[in-house]
Amino acid sequence: MSSKILIIGACGQIGSELTYRLRRLFGDKNVVASDINANNLEISKSGIFEIVDAQDFTSVKNCIEKHQIDTVYLMAAMLSATGEKHPEKAWDLNTDSLFHVLNLAKDKIIKRIFWPSSIAVFGPTTPTKYTPQYTTMEPSTVYGITKQVGERWCEYYFNKYGVDVRSIRYPGIISWKTLPGGGTTDYAVEIYHEAIKTNQYQCFLKADTELPMMFMDDAIKATIDIMMAKPKDIKIRSSYNLAAISFTPQEVADSIKKHIPEFEISYAPDFRQEIANSWPKSINDSYARQDWKWKHSFLLEDITQEMLFQLGKKYKTIKKTSQ
Ligand code: NAD
Repeated sequence: MSSKILIIGACGQIGSELTYRLRRLFGDKNVVASDINANNLEISKSGIFEIVDAQDFTSVKNCIEKHQIDTVYLMAAMLSATGEKHPEKAWDLNTDSLFHVLNLAKDKIIKRIFWPSSIAVFGPTTPTKYTPQYTTMEPSTVYGITKQVGERWCEYYFNKYGVDVRSIRYPGIISWKTLPGGGTTDYAVEIYHEAIKTNQYQCFLKADTELPMMFMDDAIKATIDIMMAKPKDIKIRSSYNLAAISFTPQEVADSIKKHIPEFEISYAPDFRQEIANSWPKSINDSYARQDWKWKHSFLLEDITQEMLFQLGKKYKTIKKTSQ
């Protein structure tokens, strides 16, 4: 479907895995990875890589023209927990970057955009159980505000200018290749690292904090599925609710204990507890399942097995090479 792809924010948790998957699907020469820095050496050395500042229109446009890009995956953003520490920076990065790619599509320089939203668009007045697609949305974090406003602009650019922009509201994403970048659901990745390294973890959320979560493989599948869908099947042009499973820190700890009986969890909730309290516990994603046949595969036990297996291997290799 697409001929030349640019990923902006390719060194991050999701961008990195998306880059690998898109390269396997479309070929190395058709997928350009970019980021504001080359911190993730595996990505920056694994194929075509460019330094691009998503906030700088000229930097984005030059890269797109240089590589004759027609499809952009905009993954650069400041996430929820970091955004609360730097509200203005979060606003500037998250909104400027989206405007740049929307305007490039409006001017027909690119044809298609993927832009991720988040469950952070919901807020304390949203129904928390099985949160519907259309409901009260009063986000209380700057991150959530940027995602909500982004959704409105995506829909506006589709309706007014026919821009083919597609979006999903990711839940918390769990993965082992690249560390998460400052979100409220990061505990669900850190816990596996600490279980392998030290057999213990101090969680920054309370034991019974239930949040919607998804394994990276499912998140990447959803991202590619929505981008491969026929335009007529994409009926929502703001952003689709997307779900897999929901669980609490205690439930993850219990699933780890089945594999590492000596694992201990303790709790020291911090400012992220308030953010988590404002988010849904579970999500109704029936539109995504109906319109473009979304289906998840990984349940908590599958995630625990895969995380412990992959991180076990990773830390063994690190230990060996440092000896
Ligand atoms: P991340 O923080 O891991 O990665 C973001 C990447 O963007 C980093 O590599 C960073 O260097 C890069 N970046 C920052 N500023 C930039 C700039 N000015 N120009 C170019 N690159 C820049 O984030 P992620 O977890 O991979 O998230 C990707 C997208 O998915 C974001 O839009 C995020 O809001 C959304 N999302 C993520 C989650 C999750 O659990 N990870 C959940 C919901 C939504």
